[in-house]
Amino acid sequence: MPDIEVPFRILPRLNDRNRAFWTGGAEGELRFWRCQDCGFYIHPPQPLCPIDYSKNLAVEAVSGRATLTTYTVNYQNWMPGPEPPYIVAIVEIVEQPSLRLTTNLVNCVPDDARIGMPVRVVFEHHPDPEGDIYLPLFEPEN
Ligand SMILES: [Zn+2]
Repeated sequence: MPDIEVPFRILPRLNDRNRAFWTGGAEGELRFWRCQDCGFYIHPPQPLCPIDYSKNLAVEAVSGRATLTTYTVNYQNWMPGPEPPYIVAIVEIVEQPSLRLTTNLVNCVPDDARIGMPVRVVFEHHPDPEGDIYLPLFEPEN
């Protein structure tokens, strides 16, 4: 991460199902539950694969590469958080384009954002007494 102050964020509450996703950044990994029978990545976490209803699920890391599907630029300081203007983005992971994450595009000025651009994950670390959170954000790949 660049040398900037980490902004205030409303953080998720960890549980056994979502912990892999929110803490994988400690090892630099973007992790999802994946069906071990059909290979489908499941997000948000569910106890069953939505494709074949298998319960044979395991956590796996993906490459962290994604595509910017759409975005909007926020110019208003609606609540404590990142300093505007900042980019709210929806990205699709390359391993499974139907898996979309709502995130922020960082290290990118709004004029440089382009739908379809390749992006990669970066993690924003938030120390927390119940377990540190690593928010997956994305930056331009090039
Ligand atoms: Zn499956």
